[in-house]
Amino acid sequence: MNRTTNSSKLTQAYGAQRIQQRDLHRRNCPDELTLLEIDTLEAVASHEVIYHLAAILPVHEPGTPGRRPHYPPWVHVLHKALTGVLGSHSKAARAMAHPAYWRSIRHHAAAHHAPKAQRKPPQRWHHNYAQQLLDDHANELLNAFRPLARRLSTELGCLAQTAPVSHTNPARGQYVVGDGTVVAAPVRKATADRWAEDGGRRVHAGIEVQNGESDSEFRYGIKFAMLATRPNAIRNNRVILDVDAVPAGKGYGGEARIATDMIDRVVADPDVRCDGLCYDGAFRGKHIDHAMKHGLTVLSPIHDGTRKPTTLARLDCACGEVHDLWTQDGRICERQILDTGDTHLQPCPTAKIYSRRNADGNHRWYIEFATPTCGTVQRERIDTTDDDRKRGYNRAEHLRQHVKTEDGDSVYDRCYGWREDSESLNNTLDRTLYGGRMIAYSAVRQLTVMLGFALGRNAIAAYLHRRRHPDERAA
Ligand SMILES: [Zn+2]
Repeated sequence: MNRTTNSSKLTQAYGAQRIQQRDLHRRNCPDELTLLEIDTLEAVASHEVIYHLAAILPVHEPGTPGRRPHYPPWVHVLHKALTGVLGSHSKAARAMAHPAYWRSIRHHAAAHHAPKAQRKPPQRWHHNYAQQLLDDHANELLNAFRPLARRLSTELGCLAQTAPVSHTNPARGQYVVGDGTVVAAPVRKATADRWAEDGGRRVHAGIEVQNGESDSEFRYGIKFAMLATRPNAIRNNRVILDVDAVPAGKGYGGEARIATDMIDRVVADPDVRCDGLCYDGAFRGKHIDHAMKHGLTVLSPIHDGTRKPTTLARLDCACGEVHDLWTQDGRICERQILDTGDTHLQPCPTAKIYSRRNADGNHRWYIEFATPTCGTVQRERIDTTDDDRKRGYNRAEHLRQHVKTEDGDSVYDRCYGWREDSESLNNTLDRTLYGGRMIAYSAVRQLTVMLGFALGRNAIAAYLHRRRHPDERAA
């Protein structure tokens, strides 16, 4: 049998195509490799944020009441982060209980000058015992996590102070993307209801609306919002900047408010600079206006109200005419009366969008455009002014910095796609959690699961970044 027949037989064999495909399209990019469990463990154990967070947890004082804990707090913070990657508390506990893994973990902890843990690996019940400690300090842990996540993002080249500002060609890493997601409840609603009737375990969950691009679906679960950034499309190269629970029953307004708080925290950090935000339809005029006043460019789809022709202003022009300005589809248009007597809204060509900073630090946004009938360049505010508020005009809802265009070359066309990354993050969350469901019952423990997820994903991003840039390791 010669080589040719051999290989043609191979291609006929079931699945052979796929095997060959691997060789034909072999990727040399190490970032495309799926992480092994040992890598995940190394990533989490070498993540300094774990040890920083653990340092805020109280240590048992000798001579005070209560039992001396078996392990220092970092062991359990690490367990939480590992749970966030492996998807279940018991799986993370099993990994940590493996003698070889535990040796590696202790080695990393020592490198971070963390308190020494005993040679004998912790068992599941040690972590169970410590869950209460993490629950009691969930908010402090989250508060400590946020600035550390922002610092990590700068290490990955995001939210850089020194990056050039470009309103026309923004860098992906200078933008943040946010989204809300509903994680399925740990049990079905019928089960949770039965338990409640029997006076058994209480499940924190509700009927929440998950808003997609075009439609909404109702899900029995718990709603969270996340904010993230990434410098490029390299796999896993993403930092979760913030995560929080969206209080139940407040619907969409609740999510945008939580997200607005997250943006405020990023903006308030003097060590980072954020230039823009991609958010889905949950962001309305008042949220957009809020972010714009912080100097951000906001890319968010328009609503029916934005689409509808609305009168904007009558403009006394240098050309001697009075122009009738309207908004439609988020753009400024000039209303023209045709020979037939019909009216027509002609979109005004845009020259530039820019902002000016007030003494109080807030930004005013302007659009420079030409009125089509005379070609004169005009200027108009885009963010909502005090005057607008007095007359109840939601300017930021009607007039957008950037909108979708037919030629596909606007900032919106080129950059709104970054928002999809939040979908992929939500998918990762769903895929990670055991059974695709939340792995905790109480609200506070659910929040620690989400914190663990953010910690774990960030640890992996940091680990892969170091692997790609070994020279920066000392820094
Ligand atoms: Zn004119």
